[in-house]
Amino acid sequence: SGESASAEPRAVQSVAIIGAGTMGSGIAMAFANGGFDVLVRETDDASLQRGLDRIADTYARSVKRGSITQAEADRRSGRISGTTEMTALSDADLIIEAAFEDMAVKKSIFAELEDVAKPGAILATNTSYLDVNEIARSTGRSGDILGLHFFSPANVMRLLEIVRGADTSPEVITTALKVARRLGKQPVVVGVCHGFVGNRMLQARNGQLSQLLLEGASPAGIDAAFRAFGWPMGPCRMQDLAGLDIGWRTRKALGKSDPLPDRLCEMGRIGQKAGKGWYAYETGARDPSEDPDVATLIETMASELGVTRRTIEPAEIIERTHGPMIEEGRRILEEGIADRASDIDVVWVHGYGFPRDFGGPMYWDDHLRRKAQPAKKETQNG
Ligand code: NAD
Repeated sequence: SGESASAEPRAVQSVAIIGAGTMGSGIAMAFANGGFDVLVRETDDASLQRGLDRIADTYARSVKRGSITQAEADRRSGRISGTTEMTALSDADLIIEAAFEDMAVKKSIFAELEDVAKPGAILATNTSYLDVNEIARSTGRSGDILGLHFFSPANVMRLLEIVRGADTSPEVITTALKVARRLGKQPVVVGVCHGFVGNRMLQARNGQLSQLLLEGASPAGIDAAFRAFGWPMGPCRMQDLAGLDIGWRTRKALGKSDPLPDRLCEMGRIGQKAGKGWYAYETGARDPSEDPDVATLIETMASELGVTRRTIEPAEIIERTHGPMIEEGRRILEEGIADRASDIDVVWVHGYGFPRDFGGPMYWDDHLRRKAQPAKKETQNG
């Protein structure tokens, strides 16, 4: 990032967001809260109204909680306006696309932006996994394009992955860093790869979950091991909250399968929004409860697949999830996707709730983990 440190940032005051779904409305609030003027673009009036209503509800809840005054809520929501016209985005200094996670959709939006956006406008995608270079190079403006990967809820979560494309110009990165500071976000500059730093390592961390379950662990047992380690929430609970259908759709698109969660999704158990996933959620109750149907499903699948079940200790759960995650972090460093180990740690502490006391996964591995568990050889010698 040294090369970009000297580049002059571009001026950014008016911002446009494409899509007013979960992320678009959160990003719009993040900018309005930071004092920017925000124009939100949706495809039709009904979707736009849903987005604006979601924003109004969020501000109303903040006022009710006492975290902001009514006057401040009015100031913030007053900075946000809506449109269904793409041409209305022609004055924006920065445009952030937060539409569906679909390459064809993103490319068609960026093709429209190429015609509509003013020269020098910065064009960003909030994609979680898609190839930012492919999106950028489908236009004639790839130097102006980057990824701005916000985390949900975008008006609350501090982490911002600034995704530097192969062609992204240094002053676009400098500008993004400056904007992030005005938003009160914690930015980390990362390179292009599937899932960038955070989601790529998350996939590695979760890669053994199904196998652990089939071999004898339970969702509650896995989550308890994570909480004992210091995570605010375990991975099964987190998947239930985010929706198991997200991973299911991604696997299907890639032609991959993961029999256990695939089966859950086929049964309609896509997580908390369906009232059931890895856990059951009684109506009105927020807390998950263990579901004997899931235990039965896991046992049945284990025997179908010929997996012998045994007791799995928390230490094994931590090793088989955190080990691959850290290996992925090492590869990310080797590939230059992250500039330094501490950037990876910032992503994990601010974006995913890695226990702060351990510094982050890479710091934990470099400085704490080996001390806590001396290598076998040393023990034998000592
Ligand atoms: P969503 O389905 O809630 O919202 C997408 C919105 O985009 C819809 O309201 C849709 O009407 C609108 N839209 C589609 N095409 C459009 C167009 N051409 N112009 C204007 N609006 C259009 O989806 P989401 O969860 O907000 O995700 C949006 C993007 O953010 C995806 O790329 C996703 O991968 C990414 N993302 C999501 C999360 C998350 O936790 N949900 C986190 C980080 C990034």
